[in-house]
Amino acid sequence: MSSIDALRFEPPPPFPEGEALRGDVRAFLAEHLPRRSIKEGVGIWGGYDREFSRKMGARGWIAMTWPRRYGGHERNALERYVVLEEMLAAGAPVGGHWIADRQSGPLILRVGTEAQKRDILPRIAAGEIGFCIGMSEPDSGSDLASVRTRAAAVEGKSGGGFLINGTKLWTSNAHRADYMILLARTGEAGEQRHGGLTQFLVDLKNTKDISIRPVHNLAGDHHFNEVVFQETFLPAHTVLGEVGRGWQQVTSELALERSGPERFLSVFTLLVELARALGPDPSERARIAMGRIVAHIYTLRRLSRSVAGMLQAGTNPAQQAALVKDLGTTLEQEIPEIARLLVDEEPDRGSASNYAAVLALSMMNAPSFTLRGGTREILRGIIARGLGLR
Ligand SMILES: Cc1cc2nc3c(=O)[nH]c(=O)nc-3n(C[C@H](O)[C@H](O)[C@H](O)COP(=O)(O)OP(=O)(O)OC[C@H]3O[C@@H](n4cnc5c(N)ncnc54)[C@H](O)[C@@H]3O)c2cc1C
Repeated sequence: MSSIDALRFEPPPPFPEGEALRGDVRAFLAEHLPRRSIKEGVGIWGGYDREFSRKMGARGWIAMTWPRRYGGHERNALERYVVLEEMLAAGAPVGGHWIADRQSGPLILRVGTEAQKRDILPRIAAGEIGFCIGMSEPDSGSDLASVRTRAAAVEGKSGGGFLINGTKLWTSNAHRADYMILLARTGEAGEQRHGGLTQFLVDLKNTKDISIRPVHNLAGDHHFNEVVFQETFLPAHTVLGEVGRGWQQVTSELALERSGPERFLSVFTLLVELARALGPDPSERARIAMGRIVAHIYTLRRLSRSVAGMLQAGTNPAQQAALVKDLGTTLEQEIPEIARLLVDEEPDRGSASNYAAVLALSMMNAPSFTLRGGTREILRGIIARGLGLR
């Protein structure tokens, strides 16, 4: 494959049948969202609402592409895309199942044991349980291969297991999640820098010796956490996939994390409020600015749907996913800045004006858009490698 082919985007497959589904999702949202605050929808893929997740599970809108025998619905990636974009555009509280549906469940489906699949996947599909991602550490973010959390094999205790010691950081929703997929070091890296890593399926509600402490973000909210493992015993059956193959598993998980519509719709509710604030007869400057934003979103949507089509076709579009995330998050960061220049209203989170409140939250969350899920510099390195430039 020539280097330019690594960044090829096939036109997104036409999908007119998706429009009926879109109508169903909108009707569902009209019924279940009206009493919610618009502020919830900003930045982190909506609020965390177990009841709402259960309702989505009951409609068959979680685990849409998974096999029926594990609670899935055997629908295609483009149908799933329709549900995701409608939920995000409406600012729906999808945080309770987002990570499990997007990456933890698909990873378990791919590398989990039959017992893990049967135990966990149907509960994700029903919207009953949430997951968090235990990758980053105080000194390991971009350079994930340097994680220091240690998993030491121990004998005894009905089949043996591992003693975990270390600290995870920036763990989104660890304080609410039922499970964490933990990345830990089980062996020496050896000649392969990425060797010696293993993933574990950690039952956060029923495992002793784990402490979860809040880390407040710039907006003053408790979203992420520090999670400390101190002599924490994990039975052998909690190993997810193969011992020593954690790096390969993590990197395939990241491709799923990077290409979806959540990478350009985080502040879509602000765009809607901006259009409302500008009114029916905006200035020429405002029209040009809005036209530019909408044209960018339209293009990003095509790119992102193209990636969904590639996932549906069974390829691993890691480079394309990195490109969508880089372009999408750059736009997401620009939207609050453009809004500020167009409407003469101060950002104020406590304001009765939806525009002022959503603008404030968008501005405070925006710096994180180009960090979470891989920083801009790291993504550009991946794209450059795909183009054969490094
Ligand atoms: C809102 C939010 C939610 C998050 N949720 C989670 C979560 O649930 N679970 C989890 O595990 N992590 C989570 N993270 C952590 C996130 O993945 C890391 O912040 C990210 O990977 C960067 O790591 P770091 O913060 O350690 O920064 P560093 O890796 O220390 O990077 C600092 C700066 O140096 C640059 N840099 C680093 N290496 C290179 C290089 N080789 N070349 C060029 N520049 C480089 C980076 O781009 C960045 O600008 C979350 C982060 C945010 C903001």
